[in-house]
Amino acid sequence: MKVYLDTLGCRLNESEIEQIGRTFRRIGHDLTKEAEDADLCVINTCAVTNEAGRKSRQMIHQAHRKAPHAGIIVTGCYSEIEKQKVAEIPGVRHIIGNLDKEKLAYLVMGVEPEPFDEEPIARDLKPGDLRRTRAYVKVQDGCNNKCAFCVTQIARGEERSRPLTEILSEIRGFLKLGYKEIVLTGVHLGAYGRDQRDANLDLKDLLQAILDQTATPRLRLSSLEPWDLPSQFFDLWQDPRLCRYLHLPLQSGCDQTLKRMLRRTRKQTFREIVAEARASIRDLALCSDMIVGFPGETDAEFNETAEFVQEIDFCHLHVFRYSPRPQTRAATLPDQIDHDTKTQRSEILQSLSLQGRQRFHQNQIGSVAPVLWEQSLDQDDSGTLWQGLTDHYIRVQTRVPRDLYNQILDVQLLSPLNDEIMAAQLR
Ligand code: SF4
Repeated sequence: MKVYLDTLGCRLNESEIEQIGRTFRRIGHDLTKEAEDADLCVINTCAVTNEAGRKSRQMIHQAHRKAPHAGIIVTGCYSEIEKQKVAEIPGVRHIIGNLDKEKLAYLVMGVEPEPFDEEPIARDLKPGDLRRTRAYVKVQDGCNNKCAFCVTQIARGEERSRPLTEILSEIRGFLKLGYKEIVLTGVHLGAYGRDQRDANLDLKDLLQAILDQTATPRLRLSSLEPWDLPSQFFDLWQDPRLCRYLHLPLQSGCDQTLKRMLRRTRKQTFREIVAEARASIRDLALCSDMIVGFPGETDAEFNETAEFVQEIDFCHLHVFRYSPRPQTRAATLPDQIDHDTKTQRSEILQSLSLQGRQRFHQNQIGSVAPVLWEQSLDQDDSGTLWQGLTDHYIRVQTRVPRDLYNQILDVQLLSPLNDEIMAAQLR
């Protein structure tokens, strides 16, 4: 059977769709890049915003248009919270809940699940399948907090961590295939291990074990809630294989708003975490998520957020205009903010984000950083134009007469070419 996979949303979803694809292969099916060729389409949806929900529905409709005879299997957060709407879309054969996502291929094909295999990745993928230089490894799922706006907590359930041995084995499988960067994903990474009291492990132990027991050349963390971090956590960055990039979602820079959001952080604690991180990690790139127009957010509250953003000096912000999500507490709060105000506030934070990035790039001119080379853009008489990412997530570009693909090499950062990319020179 030919299976087409499509996904939307966070890195967790990406790592899960890859795992689903590997399982289909393992039990004897082929993956196809074109929906038109598929006998079966698996659509992995997202519900983080209204827009993500709309795109999820659109992906399902598209798959049905392109492959009208294929059965469509829908999974992911949108189908978890809007089951009825999804079930009514033409072509949808089954909806698989997030809790059964790992077993999706087995359930759909009616095959008995296999126990975790020591060498699953190396066997189920071939070197030609290496689509990227970076592999996403899910280490944790679910969250026990109840942030007022969050649909993820509803869609993904309670915290649960993957056993360390499984994670190490999966990483070794990716490394065997030639991946150079491992990205750890989870809904609430800081909660790693909390549900497995017998193992007595936390996120710091997990990172230490990966650094000690695998040959991972570069290790990156995806989004990390700014609480529940083990003590002396940032000491780990003495190992240069850990990327100097942290994504700490703050959501607001005003304590009153944070309180209404039911976030477990406040400005002062966030300040302290950032200070600790910056004291341990040279040239740390700090990124965050911000929600504008949360119910009841006054002009004064928003201005406080804008000031705090400048104080912390983030190098990038993902700015979301608040949209009420089904079943969340915030959807029922009074004083919902109008569309134009949200747009204005979003533009202000986007502009501060851009200024932060420009400052970060300027400050890096002349410094040396390791780059993982990801793609070649063009070729002329003087060589190939390569792009890659530094460990602190600056996209860089250089032209050289040799192959750089999937190598980690030091560069000196030259000047910004635009707001996204810097010129670099191999050392
Ligand atoms: S910490 Fe809050 S925002 Fe993050 S997943 Fe949990 S409930 Fe959602």
